[in-house]
Amino acid sequence: MSGKQQPRRKFHTPQRTCVICRQKRDKRSLIRVVRTADGVQIDPTGKLEGRGAYLCENDACWERALQGQALGNALRMALSNEDRIRLQQARP
Ligand SMILES: [Zn+2]
Repeated sequence: MSGKQQPRRKFHTPQRTCVICRQKRDKRSLIRVVRTADGVQIDPTGKLEGRGAYLCENDACWERALQGQALGNALRMALSNEDRIRLQQARP
């Protein structure tokens, strides 16, 4: 109906927020961690079911995520030592 041409737009990429530094980034540049029946895991595919949280690639964010409560809070659980170790080892 309208003769207006759509301006060229960048493809919209979904944005997510790092649970530690609260910076918004492209979903693809964040690392998703998911609470699963087997514990907290890194989800490289973004398709695992379960409550997920996003972390950016900053070392400081990972240190705080693995040491503090913020990641556990985001996942509504308490991270176990095994969870922390697994995340540390699986970290890209
Ligand atoms: Zn961050």
